[in-house]
Amino acid sequence: MERSGAQGVVSVKGESSRGTGWYVSLPPENHARTLAWRAAIVVICLAAWEFASGRLIKPFWISSPSEIWRQLSVWVATGQLWLHVEVTLSETLMGFAFGAISGVAVGLALGLKTWSDDIVACTHGAPLERRQRERLARNGIQTRLEPIARIEHDDGALSRIAFASGEALPRDALFFATGQHPQSSLAITLGCTLNRRGTVKTGSLCDTNVPRLYVAGDASRDAQFVVVAAAEGVKAALAINKALQAEELR
Ligand SMILES: Cc1cc2nc3c(=O)[nH]c(=O)nc-3n(C[C@H](O)[C@H](O)[C@H](O)COP(=O)(O)OP(=O)(O)OC[C@H]3O[C@@H](n4cnc5c(N)ncnc54)[C@H](O)[C@@H]3O)c2cc1C
Repeated sequence: MERSGAQGVVSVKGESSRGTGWYVSLPPENHARTLAWRAAIVVICLAAWEFASGRLIKPFWISSPSEIWRQLSVWVATGQLWLHVEVTLSETLMGFAFGAISGVAVGLALGLKTWSDDIVACTHGAPLERRQRERLARNGIQTRLEPIARIEHDDGALSRIAFASGEALPRDALFFATGQHPQSSLAITLGCTLNRRGTVKTGSLCDTNVPRLYVAGDASRDAQFVVVAAAEGVKAALAINKALQAEELR
């Protein structure tokens, strides 16, 4: 093991679990000083936050740390904390769901262009961003944003989409996508990392970031098909069995 360096900082060349190389190690008095600085920075930030709330920023937007602590204590004492956590998580999921609707409609319409030149994207009242509308228009796809009142048929075969405005659109076929979002906040409560779509991020064996927790089917990232859900279930079961055997066998 070699040592070098200026006063107060020692570079140590040696071996660690990450291999051989140079590592910086601080003498004990410097560790204490670093910790004291970190604690001081946290205290200064909290003090600045406490001062700003109610003076520089309306407490409606950002409450002070003391007010947050007081409210948390009340919720814990009255048992209301989990109710508020549940409401917040549900609202987060709903946000994911609403954001997904227009994106799904645009994606589905563009995907169907390979089958027909006569495609109309109906969003049933959900707005589209300007760039989404422009992209559809560039690809020759019409958009109808108004709510749909009913689907009309002749002897079970689709004939027209009737809009709430009173207009009707003759159509031969209808494809729809409901988006993909979790039905409950269980995965979030268990600490799972979500992907951009709001479903659980999983590895190739349906493993999640939470040790010993596996997720299969629509709740995870892949395509929404029965065969995909079943295959993921099998993969997860095999991985769980393998992990349990590794724990039990010596
Ligand atoms: C309209 C529609 C058409 C489709 N068409 C096809 C098709 O033609 N071919 C195809 O391969 N796939 C199709 N799919 C997709 C397919 O249905 C899904 O990919 C598949 O069912 C996913 O299986 P899953 O077990 O992950 O979820 P699900 O089949 O949705 O099962 C989840 C279960 O969990 C239950 N559940 C939810 N929350 C809770 C809770 N908090 N507590 C207890 N239980 C709960 C639900 O009631 C449900 O029974 C279609 C889906 C839809 C919506």
